[in-house]
Amino acid sequence: MPSFQTTPGTRDILPPDAARWRSFVEEFDAVVSLAGFQHIVVPMFEDLGVFQRLGDATDVVTKEMYDFVDKGGRHVALRPEQTAGVCRSFAQHRPLPPWKVWYSGPNFRYERAQHGRYRQFDQVGVEALGSDDPLLDVEVIALAVDFFRNLGLRNVVLNINSLGDSGDRARYVEALSQYFQGRISELSPESVATLERNPLRVLDSKRESEQAVVAQAPSISGFLSDEAASHFTQVKQGLDALGIAYVVNERLVRGLDYYCRTTFEFQSTALESAQTAVGGGGRYDGLVEDLGGPATPGIGFAIGLDRTLLACDAEQVFPHPSTKADVFVIDTTGGMQALQLCQQFRTAGCASERAYGGRAMKAQMKAADKSGATYAVIIGTDELSQGVATVKSMVDGQQEEILLDAVVQHVAAQLGKVNS
Ligand code: AMP
Repeated sequence: MPSFQTTPGTRDILPPDAARWRSFVEEFDAVVSLAGFQHIVVPMFEDLGVFQRLGDATDVVTKEMYDFVDKGGRHVALRPEQTAGVCRSFAQHRPLPPWKVWYSGPNFRYERAQHGRYRQFDQVGVEALGSDDPLLDVEVIALAVDFFRNLGLRNVVLNINSLGDSGDRARYVEALSQYFQGRISELSPESVATLERNPLRVLDSKRESEQAVVAQAPSISGFLSDEAASHFTQVKQGLDALGIAYVVNERLVRGLDYYCRTTFEFQSTALESAQTAVGGGGRYDGLVEDLGGPATPGIGFAIGLDRTLLACDAEQVFPHPSTKADVFVIDTTGGMQALQLCQQFRTAGCASERAYGGRAMKAQMKAADKSGATYAVIIGTDELSQGVATVKSMVDGQQEEILLDAVVQHVAAQLGKVNS
């Protein structure tokens, strides 16, 4: 007999965790809908070329893509993130800007799986296309801040930086490259390899031995054009005006190549592992054009659902939603009464459960306890012959007999589900 397990980097999200995931997305929907963001669903896989726009120098493109040739000979890939898909969608449908959308769902990256880092992971996120107003950057950042606050998280730190415009960035990358070349003997073999591919990413190094050389590297702020510097100043002023705390982190370069000007990341100080980033985003003013659309500025962020929930666990906030039943129907007369009453309770808006398989009174009572129901409605042979049901409060043990025909309305009223 074959015995199968989930493949590395994937997990089953079992009950009750899956219900918590759904509440997470509902909470996100509530926050971003208040700001006029509308839901979008983009495909789980696209032409590989859409994702290659994320940048040839990124791990996501070079090492982590789940790509394959389909039966029609198309080279496609499972999405590693959703910004590229949203921008492809904008280029394809040309909606009127500003286009403000939000999404949720799984992404796929062939990463080294570890705690908080998976090959299939979920994100929620927003994208706002069609405006380069720095106050839009502020509004977008504020949405993530509001969301984390609504979850109950208190230990999330906002890091911001500006990567400048593409010319600024090119000059900075050149300077950085020269700097690291000059101190190459202080770099690990891994960072030497990274330096060749993408000098910016050397700044991400967490290796203790390289912290000094990274700390002394030139900063992006010295390379910003007047426009980019002014944009960044306005973003900081906007955050100040909203009372949003932030740390300017000039080492924040973020993984994907398409970012320009504002970039930001949210770190949870409650998480102890290396995986402390719960979300991040930034401006990507050239991406829509790269994908064949009109020149369109854009900004967005993505929040990792898995990792943010780990942060919620660490801070003991955002508990699982209740899965308790309102009523548990105990029927020792064969089960037909339970079948009908459960149905009537559900029609009346009461969550109702029952036991199956004609089990004894004691076993059914145990199941009622386990369900967390507020009331047990009991029908035995005596009750049935008298046309009544016993209603037992599972909170204080009080019980009363109610006419069978009236029991649903009575209990529903007790539960505040209908007017009696
Ligand atoms: P990124 O799309 O790389 O900017 O990531 C945004 C957020 O998604 C991160 O801050 C993480 O919370 C989450 N994330 C990214 N990659 C993974 C992964 N492999 N497993 C779990 N969460 C991830």
